[in-house]
Amino acid sequence: MSPPPWTLPALRLEAPLLSGRIDAGVTLSTVTRLVASGTAVSKADLVVAAGLARTTVSAAVDELLARGVLQPDGIRPTSGRGRPADRLALSPHCGAVLLADVGARGAHLAVVDLRQQVLGHVHVDLDVREGPAAVLGTVEGELEKLRTRAGVPVRAVVIGLPGPVDGHLGVPVRPPIMPGWHAYPVAARLQETFACPVLLENDVNLRALGEARALPADQAPLLFVKVGTGIGGGLVTREGVLHHGADGAAGDIGHVRVRGAPDTVCVCGNIGCIEAVASVTAIGRRLGLAGADAASEVRELVARADPETMALVREAAALIGEVVAMLVHFYNPARVTLGGSVTSASDELLAGVRSVVYQRALPLATRNLVLATSVLGEHAGLGGASVLGIERVLSAEHIGLLGAATRR
Ligand SMILES: [Zn+2]
Repeated sequence: MSPPPWTLPALRLEAPLLSGRIDAGVTLSTVTRLVASGTAVSKADLVVAAGLARTTVSAAVDELLARGVLQPDGIRPTSGRGRPADRLALSPHCGAVLLADVGARGAHLAVVDLRQQVLGHVHVDLDVREGPAAVLGTVEGELEKLRTRAGVPVRAVVIGLPGPVDGHLGVPVRPPIMPGWHAYPVAARLQETFACPVLLENDVNLRALGEARALPADQAPLLFVKVGTGIGGGLVTREGVLHHGADGAAGDIGHVRVRGAPDTVCVCGNIGCIEAVASVTAIGRRLGLAGADAASEVRELVARADPETMALVREAAALIGEVVAMLVHFYNPARVTLGGSVTSASDELLAGVRSVVYQRALPLATRNLVLATSVLGEHAGLGGASVLGIERVLSAEHIGLLGAATRR
């Protein structure tokens, strides 16, 4: 026999997690998250939902009750002859998460408890171009008021910014519309202020995550495309988690160049980026609006269906549709959500993008594709921030910290 013409190097094969990996932290985290999301509210439900042994679930529930993380929540009558089950709920006293969804010209700030109840919410006008010291000063002041009002220990802070971020280092990375923010220690500063873990995320990623978790699981993979002062994308995988890519830059679609786009110079220095030719800023510029209120003026013109503005919105939709069609081919999402001020003011952008995508993308990629506007609207970012923060607090690594303060 002649030797084989080529050989394979040793390739890594995926292996299932061993049951030995299910340690106490994983069990406590699983049980608490199932209760927190309303998936399972009794010991019997938890055994089924977690796929763990009855004794394991029972011990975990007893420990969480003793630590004040869970509390009894009445009786749930069962249908048929079954014994009524004791309902469980997260304790409202075991902690809260502070949320900041900072956009280019304003921020939504909120405090939620670990049961996902919104304890307070405020919107403030600000301008990210004023730099990190001024903007974060405002954000911290408002979050401090929300924390005081909540009256429970803050376990985590989640902040979203309208630009690329390095989530591991907790810093923005050369954000084109945020002068002075590059490498500014955003997470470290908030950690110092609030004495708890801080998660920094891109604003569109937060919207994508919020949207995906507000919809049934079969609506993922989900691609969120935000058309605002800039254009950005966020991707949630079929497993329901954010796809960050190698450096956190995944989904940063604003600087993709489209066929047939005008040679407009972009804030990033390149020519013909989708953001430079189809964002709300670009539409405003062509209407002769360039001031700080340009975006809200464009939104008003769209809401009034001003003919000149709508013609520009349709042009923008055709260009954005090209980018979305390409992404649909590449990623085959179950759902594409279009968000941002223009989509909430009119269906014209959605209709335009939809027609290009269905014309250009091949049937297999669009057979079951849903292309829609955001179900959470302007609060999608806070939704995603809430998910990230609560999941962090209830994670296997951190759940051990819960209950310590409530016992004091
Ligand atoms: Zn660009």
